Amino acid sequence: MPKARAIVIPVTPFQQNCTLLWCEDTKRAAVIDPGGDLNRVKQAIAESGAAVERILLTHGHIDHAAGAAELKEALGVPVEGPHRADQILLDHLPETGRGYGIPARAVTPDRWLAEGDEVQVGDMTFGVLHCPGHSPGSVVFTNLPQRFAIVGDVLFQGSIGRTDLPGGDHEALIRAIKEKLLPLGDDIAFICGHGPGSTFGEERRSNPFLR
Ligand SMILES: [Zn+2]
Ligand SMILES: [Zn+2]
Repeated sequence: MPKARAIVIPVTPFQQNCTLLWCEDTKRAAVIDPGGDLNRVKQAIAESGAAVERILLTHGHIDHAAGAAELKEALGVPVEGPHRADQILLDHLPETGRGYGIPARAVTPDRWLAEGDEVQVGDMTFGVLHCPGHSPGSVVFTNLPQRFAIVGDVLFQGSIGRTDLPGGDHEALIRAIKEKLLPLGDDIAFICGHGPGSTFGEERRSNPFLR
């Protein structure tokens, strides 16, 4: 099985966990959610020695997607994800950025993702789950053979994504977590969009939002 490596790079004033994920066998990588601070992201890429072959987006919020257009140009790689339901968020990144005082460019993914799709990072294949609720187009990337997932802002250690932003839906978010994520198994470890990661089992047992 190809060995997975990941480095988390907190970016933007929101301390979003931009993740550099690579396949140790092929040294091919994906940058997940380049929200900004691209110099730090580029430095992590250089230190990893891996070649980035794509940018993946878990959803269209500014702290996850604001740097995607610029990094795509700099690296000459495609952007894949999120689900098309977040198109309006990606289209309006410049306006949203002005509200927060954060430079942001609109980005149109080269490939929208949908439930059941697969994305490739080197020799590793990730499944795609559409998990709306935090945003309409949020997706989760799963690697079941290696028992880990990248969940964006769907689920956090001890919390869940906020649902008070446009397009948020608390019921849908809880449903997605309980019906799509937790059944994958207690031993699945995850990297999330903010703060430390956890496992689905730990959250099933102790996350107050999942009682
Ligand atoms: Zn978000
Ligand atoms: Zn976020």
